[in-house]
Amino acid sequence: MGFVLPGEVLASEEEYLNASNTYVDNDGNIRSKRIGKTKVDTENKKISVMSKTIQILPGDAIEGVVTGVRDKMIMLTVDKVFDKRGKEKSNYIGFAAILVSEITTSYLENIKDSAKIGDIIRGEICSMRAGLFNVTTKGFDNGVVLAFCSKCRQKLKADTQDYKNRELREMICPNCGNHERRKVSKYYFG
Ligand SMILES: [Zn+2]
Repeated sequence: MGFVLPGEVLASEEEYLNASNTYVDNDGNIRSKRIGKTKVDTENKKISVMSKTIQILPGDAIEGVVTGVRDKMIMLTVDKVFDKRGKEKSNYIGFAAILVSEITTSYLENIKDSAKIGDIIRGEICSMRAGLFNVTTKGFDNGVVLAFCSKCRQKLKADTQDYKNRELREMICPNCGNHERRKVSKYYFG
């Protein structure tokens, strides 16, 4: 047995003693507590899981792609997690939700003016539950870091003439001249 996930059965209690990062369920199965590699100590009849999982904590920054914009939340697929110094600590793949109340400190009339499907967003983790990150994009660090024109899919440019000190900004498509709005991060690429 190699790589295991939390909850995966490793052996039965009759075969082995459970050691690090494992537990015994009510049916006498030894299961893994962590993502990691199984280690079997045949001499002492012990089974454990070697875990190198990096801890992901509230306050860490994430980057992800918008997969859905609903009435009350934005859905993301997360593919990068950064520590507080901005160093990439994991390319963990997971899912995140940004509730409408967590998008911006500015007044947001329409959630569709904050992000669109395919945009890349930087945010900060508020909490985690059952494999889902709750993320905030409030503040100038957070928001869309790359956005695409919904008409022609070209990279949008943030209007530098206006809204300089606002989280919600006017965006212009250099290709077709389309105007849209986004909740923009100061790290916006365009
Ligand atoms: Zn365009």
